[in-house]
Amino acid sequence: MKFIDLQAQYRNIRHEIDAGINEVLQHAQFLNGPEIKLLERELAHFADVSHCISTASGTTALQVALMALEVSADDEVITTPFSFFATVEAIELLGAKPVFVDINPQTYNLDASQLEAAITTKTRVIMPVNLYGQCADYDVINQIAKKHNIFVVEDAAQSFGAEYKGKRSGGLATVGCTSFFPSKPLGCYGDGGACFTDDECLAEKMRMIINHGQSKRYQHDLIGLTGRLDTIQAAVLLAKLQHQFPREIAARQQVASWYQQFLTAPLKPPHIESHNSSVFAQYTIEVEDREQLRIALNEQGIPTAVHYPRALHQQPALEAVHHSQHFPHAERAAERVMSLPFHPYMQQETVEQVASVLNELVAVSA
Ligand SMILES: *Cc1c(COP(=O)(O)O)cnc(C)c1O
Repeated sequence: MKFIDLQAQYRNIRHEIDAGINEVLQHAQFLNGPEIKLLERELAHFADVSHCISTASGTTALQVALMALEVSADDEVITTPFSFFATVEAIELLGAKPVFVDINPQTYNLDASQLEAAITTKTRVIMPVNLYGQCADYDVINQIAKKHNIFVVEDAAQSFGAEYKGKRSGGLATVGCTSFFPSKPLGCYGDGGACFTDDECLAEKMRMIINHGQSKRYQHDLIGLTGRLDTIQAAVLLAKLQHQFPREIAARQQVASWYQQFLTAPLKPPHIESHNSSVFAQYTIEVEDREQLRIALNEQGIPTAVHYPRALHQQPALEAVHHSQHFPHAERAAERVMSLPFHPYMQQETVEQVASVLNELVAVSA
C-alpha cells in the first residue's frame, strides 16, 4: 500500500504531461518560458486573486512575501508553533523574530483568540498556516491585523484548492503563499511555489525580487534572489491544473468521507469547521501510543507518517531562544498526531481496510 500514489496520478494524465514537458524541450526557454505566464494567469484565476508570481519553492514564496513587505531584523512575525519548519525558517532567514501563538487543538491552526495578546509595537506580520489543508480563521485574523496596521501572510502550502467561507485559499490575506512540492495537493515534479496578491505594487516588487531585484535587465533596484519557477515545472502544473486538479480535490474529499465513515470511536476523524472545505494535504488523526501503533500498522503493510513529531519551538535550531517557552496544545499534538495513507486514487476498499485494521489495534490496546 502506498502512503501517496504519485505514479497513479501521473498515469492518469500521462499524455498531457508528456506533451507539456516535450513542448518546453522543443522551445528550450527553460526559464521565463511562455508556460510561466499562462500558469500564473490560470493560478490567479483559480485562487480568485489579481496577481500570481510563481516561485522556486514554497519556502521561497514565503521568503519573497516577507521581503516584499520589508520585514527585517528586529521585526516580529507572529506564527504557529505547529507547522513544517519552512514557515519559521522564512522568518529567521530575514533576521526577524518569530513569535509563536499556540494552536486550537481541534483544527491545529493558530488560535485566533490568543492572537491579540501576542501583538507588540514590533509586530509587522501575522503568518498563519493552513495545516493539513484546512484554512485558519482569516476573518478574525484579518480584522485584528487591520486594527493594528499589520500585514497577514497566508502559508497556504498545504491548502491550495481549499476554501474558507466560500473563498479560495491563496487569496485570504495580504499575500498568500503556496508550495508545489510533489506531494502537496497540487504538486510539480521538483520544487515549486507561488505568491498571490491583489496588491499591484506588492506583485511588482515580488516579481523583481525573484529576479535578483531587477526592474529591467542588469538594473538591480532591490536585493533579491534566484527565486523563479522553471518552465518544465510550469508545464507539469498547467497540465494538472487543466486536466486533473479540480477532479482530485473532489476525490480527496470523497476519500476523507470514507475514512470518516469507517473509523470508529475512540478514533476521531479530523475536525473540519463548517465554514471550511479542506483539501486534506494529510489525513491526520490523534492516537495514544503512536510509535507502537505505527509499528503494528507497518507489520500489516500500512504505511503512516508523522506531521510533525516536534513543535517548532522545540527544534534544535531554535531551542536556544525558545526552549523555555511552552505551547501545550502544539506539544501535545506533536506527541499524538499520525497521518494515514491518503491520495485521490485511493479505493474505498483500501480505506476500509486501513480503518478496520486501525480500529481493531486501538480496541485491543484499550
Ligand atoms: C511544504 C511546506 C512549506 C514549504 O514548501 P516547499 O515548497 O517545500 O519549500 C511551507 N509551509 C508549509 C506549511 C508546508 O507544508
